Amino acid sequence: MSFFDVLQQYPAADLVARVDRVEDADIERALSRTRPSIDDYLCLLSPRISDVQLETMAGLAHRVTMQRFGRTIRLYAPLYLSNHCSNGCLYCGFSADNRGLVRKTLNDREIVREAEHLRRLGFRDILLLTGEAPKFAGLDYLEHAVRLVAPMFSSLSIEVFPLTRAGYRRLVDAGVDGLTLYQETYDQGLYPEFHPYGPKKDFRFRLEGPERGGEAGIRMLGIGALLGLGDFVTDAFYTGLHARYLMHRFWRSQVSVSFPRLRPAEGGFRPRSVVDDRQLAQLICALRLLLPDAGLVLSTRESARLRDNLLPLGITRMSAGSRTAPGAYEGHRDQGEQFSVSDLRSPDEVRKVVAGNGYDVVWKDWDGAFTAGRHENRHGGTGIP
Ligand code: SF4
Repeated sequence: MSFFDVLQQYPAADLVARVDRVEDADIERALSRTRPSIDDYLCLLSPRISDVQLETMAGLAHRVTMQRFGRTIRLYAPLYLSNHCSNGCLYCGFSADNRGLVRKTLNDREIVREAEHLRRLGFRDILLLTGEAPKFAGLDYLEHAVRLVAPMFSSLSIEVFPLTRAGYRRLVDAGVDGLTLYQETYDQGLYPEFHPYGPKKDFRFRLEGPERGGEAGIRMLGIGALLGLGDFVTDAFYTGLHARYLMHRFWRSQVSVSFPRLRPAEGGFRPRSVVDDRQLAQLICALRLLLPDAGLVLSTRESARLRDNLLPLGITRMSAGSRTAPGAYEGHRDQGEQFSVSDLRSPDEVRKVVAGNGYDVVWKDWDGAFTAGRHENRHGGTGIP
């Protein structure tokens, strides 16, 4: 049974009705469980949660994270390969409707220059991103880019358009070990409104992308909803349900959840609903209690102050020093960003703050050393002059 079938078993109207009925006792019961059920998780997302209950949940989430992950935070950086896109996502600066954006797809030399920049900063874990424009940056381009930079890093993830299982397999063979694919919103009624045209219109193909990636052997699967697009509680619930499904089905893979909140982007989209800091903290804690072993990822979309405050609640991985335009690390700032970064600190500043809070900063994914295939010690230059 695919996650699409699972999703149909939890109609949004039923969830909303259940949340309306949540009482203090339900939240207390959920907080007392060693392993909260999916219904407990829904109760923990309730807007009825009191400050005292939230405080309790934060303490529990911190404890569980310490038990499972210790005091470690993995740092990674995004590397944008292309901002060409044939989709019209209303909230994204790369949307095909954004006619004023200067479009760019990095060539070999530029890709390597960006990668070397990130390597010099200390990163060994990077995320390659593109829009969805097969003419400019399709699967062949992506596979080539992966082969160019894979020898330079210990972990290489992609955040690109959804692929078939065979497509993911090609990228795994080239050196990819992680996949991030946000569903944006799990609301099947709302989804077409935000994705009015282009291949991304296909809700189900996107939803089942992480499953195809898992089947292809990708060992780190990342999901998330773009918070602010749909109803907070239902999208937060479906995100947890989705992560739990992937963890059960792909038990050899590390499943992680990100919490992107809508940020102002080129094109001027403003979120319909605002997910506030309290709700974001509530979601992080509730997910940690539902899924003690899931990776929880926080990007530079959030402010430095908030990221520092959320750190102890269960975060295991953070981006740092991010640029969201292709070629931006080496100075091509005029190409247009996908969204505005809020935490503008350098990777070293982030490292110091994280270390100052008593955490070990991990730049490198050691698991990669034990998987067949790419390892950092294969780095011997890229062949690009
Ligand atoms: S969110 Fe992705 S698919 Fe949509 S417009 Fe932006 S880059 Fe393209």
